[in-house]
Amino acid sequence: MLKTPSSSVFASIIATSLTRTSEKFAVSNEGYYGDFGGAFIPEMLYPNVEHLRSVYAEIIAEPSFQAEFEALLRDYVGRPTPLYLAKRLSEFYKTRIYLKREDLNHTGAHKINNTVGQVLVAKRLGKKRIIAETGAGQHGVATATVCALMGLECVVYMGEIDIARQKPNVERMKLLGAKIVPAMSGSKTLKDATNEAMRDWISNPEDTHYIIGSVVGPHPYPDMVSRFQSVISEEIKQQLLEMEGRTNPDYVLACVGGGSNAIGAFYHFLDDERVRLVALEAGGKGVDTGFSAATTALGKPGVLHGSRTFLMQTPDGQVVEPFSISAGLDYPGIGPIHAHLFASKRAEFHAVTDDEAMQAGKFLARMEGIIPALETAHALAHLEKINAKPHEIVVINLSGRGDKDLQTYIDGGQEARPHKH
Ligand SMILES: *Cc1c(COP(=O)(O)O)cnc(C)c1O
Repeated sequence: MLKTPSSSVFASIIATSLTRTSEKFAVSNEGYYGDFGGAFIPEMLYPNVEHLRSVYAEIIAEPSFQAEFEALLRDYVGRPTPLYLAKRLSEFYKTRIYLKREDLNHTGAHKINNTVGQVLVAKRLGKKRIIAETGAGQHGVATATVCALMGLECVVYMGEIDIARQKPNVERMKLLGAKIVPAMSGSKTLKDATNEAMRDWISNPEDTHYIIGSVVGPHPYPDMVSRFQSVISEEIKQQLLEMEGRTNPDYVLACVGGGSNAIGAFYHFLDDERVRLVALEAGGKGVDTGFSAATTALGKPGVLHGSRTFLMQTPDGQVVEPFSISAGLDYPGIGPIHAHLFASKRAEFHAVTDDEAMQAGKFLARMEGIIPALETAHALAHLEKINAKPHEIVVINLSGRGDKDLQTYIDGGQEARPHKH
């Protein structure tokens, strides 16, 4: 069905994915998932965040919103994305492996699902100006893209160091008409860009909407972004039903930076205990080396960017600088829903090193003709360790394509294959 979905089928996927929430893991009225979440914001940001909180659920439940979101996801983004049975990879690992092809979305990753949703919310709020933070530039590009589409002013905050090391994405954003503002404080990377964006929002409360790029930030962002990304798991269910005669896989694997692609792939399976949810974090050079971004392995509860979650911190509460070969996973926290999935053990979290990810990315290129983003490669690397049975179904969320990582792959040494079998 989903190869050429009728509009009514895709419309029902969109309506379901936006409005059906989990029974056990839905956000509370105060914005909490278990002990995590909330809205820890400076007083000056309160009116903006509170206004968004009071209207977002109503907006995304409106039929006119859903119709516009559906049309753009379908005709502009290119959804539904295929669920592809990776035959050679399946043979190698002796199980059934499906790749959810978010890399085939316009702009090359899952991030556009969220920016399309949020720009439609911004329009309904009457906002004329959009701001965003970006690390590798993927969220910046996805935001600049939807701003061009809607004719809105776009300002992207980016760490000075990231601007230097992500030049192609900086040029893309400029071509799309966005203004790039360097964040010069702290480590001059993603967390500093986020701080600058929040500062901008405080100074421009009337005309500006802040498009956060992952399931992080104060309530209602984690819930809103989760719903926009949850189209991924709703499609997976329909596609598996058609191809395998059942809606549930045995495993879903996804990489976690802030956690938006992972929650998108997990969302409509959260209440289905048959499905093992596996989140892969960036281990960097190794969890114990001091060069890592494995938040659940190294972090403790604390407040980061407006919500209570797990974050990497010193004993006196200073944020520890993260490290990962993939800029999209180079973040010292995780979204509060993931903190809760970790604490409640609904999802497993594992760390994957830079080297393991690099090898898994190259291996997919050779086995299936798909060069994945280095972020995604972290999820692929875990195939080595799950020991799925031949009749079991493993879905991997292929969050993005690897074009942006070409130089890192080239610099990453010799061809190598995983060690199993
Ligand atoms: C940004 C990005 C990620 C990490 O962000 P999440 O919010 O954790 O999904 C993962 N994969 C790709 C391809 C990205 O661009």
